[in-house]
Amino acid sequence: MRRVLILGSTGSIGVQALDVIERNNDLIAVGLSAGTNWRGAVEQAERHRIETIAIADPDSAAQAEDGWDRGEVLAGPNGIIQLIADSDCDIVLNAIVGSAGLGPTIAALGEGIDVALANKESLVVGGDLVTQLAEGTGAQLIPVDSEHSALFQLIGVQQPGTVDRLVLTASGGPFRGRDRSELADVGVVDALKHPTWEMGGKITIDSATLMNKGLEVIEAHHLFRVPYDDIEVVVHPQSIVHSLIDLNDGATMAHLGYPDMRVPISYALNYPQRADVPLERLDLAEVGSLTFEAPDRDAFGCLAIAESAGREGGGAPCVMNAANEIAVAAFLEGRLPFLGIAETIERTLSAVPREAIGHFSQLATLDEDARRVATEMVARVGV
Ligand code: NDP
Repeated sequence: MRRVLILGSTGSIGVQALDVIERNNDLIAVGLSAGTNWRGAVEQAERHRIETIAIADPDSAAQAEDGWDRGEVLAGPNGIIQLIADSDCDIVLNAIVGSAGLGPTIAALGEGIDVALANKESLVVGGDLVTQLAEGTGAQLIPVDSEHSALFQLIGVQQPGTVDRLVLTASGGPFRGRDRSELADVGVVDALKHPTWEMGGKITIDSATLMNKGLEVIEAHHLFRVPYDDIEVVVHPQSIVHSLIDLNDGATMAHLGYPDMRVPISYALNYPQRADVPLERLDLAEVGSLTFEAPDRDAFGCLAIAESAGREGGGAPCVMNAANEIAVAAFLEGRLPFLGIAETIERTLSAVPREAIGHFSQLATLDEDARRVATEMVARVGV
């Protein structure tokens, strides 16, 4: 029986992970965490007979303590770290959204616990330090992002030195095909209408701006140690091909399936085994056609911004990520136009000085600085 700790259990990935666990006799959930939604976390804990939960927001944690007497509530970001240390789990599924997920990733890897990583921001911000930590303690990072899960499975069966190039597919989001001028007035409701995936709000907006693909390029660079020159992005609106690899003998291999996150979640939680997931089998005749096109980096500036920050390395991805989180929150609250997201990130990257990164503590300081500057930029760029 594999003991799974789910961080971010009340979110889109967290809920689907509990569904996967419920249908699998070899997996058991032993702890949960949420940001503010303590009622949701308590309901999940009751259903899965879990005795300890962590709630990141201290006020929500206090309400959970008052409202739940059948288990223990750990409070604040440190409560999540304590949950990781005390839960005696075999694997942590990190499905927290944003750079708030970095601390828990560090804590789990530091304890030598394998991490099923949905929180791509951990690798975007923590980059080399996170992969070095995993190497140092022997803990594994198993990707949950569908594209990276596909690449992990494709690369895993190849001989070293035979993979020439990674190709990440992108749905293109709800505004695919529009030019810059047609993006000026798009609103929150339309931006949240993702054509193929049901996800949390932040990643759905990241998909609409193509920042999500930029974050994934950086994630792939760190996970698979592949130079940026050898990572391509191709838009594939049907989201059936999850990613591809080019091999040295001219072969290209792809990973296919209907878009359903329970597939990569199940793969990560059961790795290296596979388990039954009761889903419809892929019917290519019914799908009909699979189409591919180049991404429009001019209309969707966030992709190029992320690629450039990834290439710069050091603190640049941390600054970019913090600015993106601030800008996306402002867009969702109606304080920033859609195109203002890229502009806020660019301005923040120009304004925040950064140095070589040798310690996680530098990243925490840089993240704070970037958030402060990005908040000022939102006020200037905003509506
Ligand atoms: P959601 O917004 O749906 O859920 C986020 C979870 O994180 C919730 O449980 C939330 O709690 C919790 N949370 C929010 N803020 C904090 C905080 N400061 N500290 C601790 N916990 C917090 O996000 P998704 O499930 O969509 O995405 C989670 C991660 O997985 C992201 O990094 C995303 O990029 C990645 N991912 C998601 C995919 C998807 O299909 N959804 C696909 C691939 C990757 P509360 O409910 O209380 O707010």
